[in-house]
Amino acid sequence: MKVHHISATTLCPLSKRLVNGTGSAFERGHMVCHCWVVESSSGLILVDTGVGRDDLNDVNRRLGLWFRVVVGVDPHSDNTAIGAIERMGFDPMDVRHVIPTHLDLDHAGGLPDFPWAEVHVFRPEYEAALHPPTHRESMRYRPPHWAHQPKWDVRDVEGDGWFGFRGVRALDSESDVLLIPLQGHTRGHCGVAVRTPEGWLLHAGDAYFNQAEMRDPPSCTPGLRLFQRIAAIDNELRLENQDRLRHLVREHGGEVTVHSAHCPREYEALRKPPGEAMAPERAQARAPRA
Ligand SMILES: [Zn+2]
Repeated sequence: MKVHHISATTLCPLSKRLVNGTGSAFERGHMVCHCWVVESSSGLILVDTGVGRDDLNDVNRRLGLWFRVVVGVDPHSDNTAIGAIERMGFDPMDVRHVIPTHLDLDHAGGLPDFPWAEVHVFRPEYEAALHPPTHRESMRYRPPHWAHQPKWDVRDVEGDGWFGFRGVRALDSESDVLLIPLQGHTRGHCGVAVRTPEGWLLHAGDAYFNQAEMRDPPSCTPGLRLFQRIAAIDNELRLENQDRLRHLVREHGGEVTVHSAHCPREYEALRKPPGEAMAPERAQARAPRA
């Protein structure tokens, strides 16, 4: 399976210094919405959808004022998943499956751009998004993203094992595409793994935010550390899953390449054409540690 790395869209959160660890605290930071377009025998699979076309046309109404002010969409960016797919020369109708790592507004925004596709989610995520049990969750999930009534495929969190992770579900038609439970950030957050000719690739969504969190010892910029703590629905479980991911990188970094949804450095390392690309975690393993 071939995986294309796209960003749908570019975010510019408050305080570059606190978020990216460089620049001024008073300028806007830089983050991506790292998604995959996977070429498979059953058509295209879109992993995470980022921000959608309708969202970009009306950020305040679709995503909310707090999102525009605190997280921010780069005004110079018009990149969406459907736009990237068209630019690559694919027909968007060939997107047969969508696997959002979770249904937060910056991951599910592109769902309305692919109303014909089957959308695969874990049941706790589906229930929390469509029937938010807390006020906080009613803020992070946006009903316009499923007003078109997607073709949901809701999975229970149970299944096989994969490199020490449990409850793993395979996409029925593609046994080399796996949903990996990585709860904590949200109730049904998942990672998505695909087997490529170069080895396994794992999209860890918002299970972590900064590539340095996968190092040993881990580190993170203060802004992202605070944001993750505040955004987590179960912080203990989030930290347990980060430990599992670090273990995976440490013990199986030669077989599995791991990246998160918003880290621009991981995205830049992976989006390059094959041959030039160096997987972020492998790149770290080779680089001398400061
Ligand atoms: Zn996110």
